[in-house]
Amino acid sequence: MLQKTHSIAGIVAVETVIMHYHQPLLSWESGAALLIGCLAGPLADVDKKGSTMAKIFLPISFILQLLRVKHRTFTHSLFFLAGLAALLTPLPLFFFWSFLLAYASHPLIDMFNEQGIALFWPWKKKFRLLPSIFSIKTGSNAEDSFRLVLLVVMVMLPIFYMLPEGIL
Ligand SMILES: [Zn+2]
Repeated sequence: MLQKTHSIAGIVAVETVIMHYHQPLLSWESGAALLIGCLAGPLADVDKKGSTMAKIFLPISFILQLLRVKHRTFTHSLFFLAGLAALLTPLPLFFFWSFLLAYASHPLIDMFNEQGIALFWPWKKKFRLLPSIFSIKTGSNAEDSFRLVLLVVMVMLPIFYMLPEGIL
C-alpha cells in the first residue's frame, strides 16, 4: 500500500484510541497522538529502499539493508510488534496504544495486498487475508477505493464521537 493509505489507517487507529480513553479531541494529547498515527502508520515500510520512511529514518533503513532484511518481513511481523510494545512500555497507556495500534494497522492492511506479509517472521511464509483475485495491488484503482473508504471512516469517527450522547 502507498504511504498516504497507511497514514490514514494510522490516524483511524489513533481515533479509536482517543474514543476508548475519552480523550477530548481538541487537546494537545489528541493532537500529538494523531501526528504519531500519521507517522507510525507508514513506518513499517522503512524496510523498503527509496520509500519516504526509509529516507526519513536513513540510519535504520541503512542497517536493515546491511542485514539484508527483505521488504514486508521483519518490520511487518508480530515479532517486531512485540519488541515495539516492550520498547514503548514506559509511555502513558494512551500514547502506548496510539503508537502501537497505528503501527499495527500497517501489517494489517498490507495483508489485503496480493504479496502478503511474513507475519510470523522469522518464518518466511507470507500471509494475506484475501484471495488473489480480490487482493489490492499497490497504487491500483482498488487501493484508491480502499483509501477513500478509510478516509470516510477517518472523517466520520470524530463526528460521531463529538455528537452529544443520545442522538444516535
Ligand atoms: Zn508495508
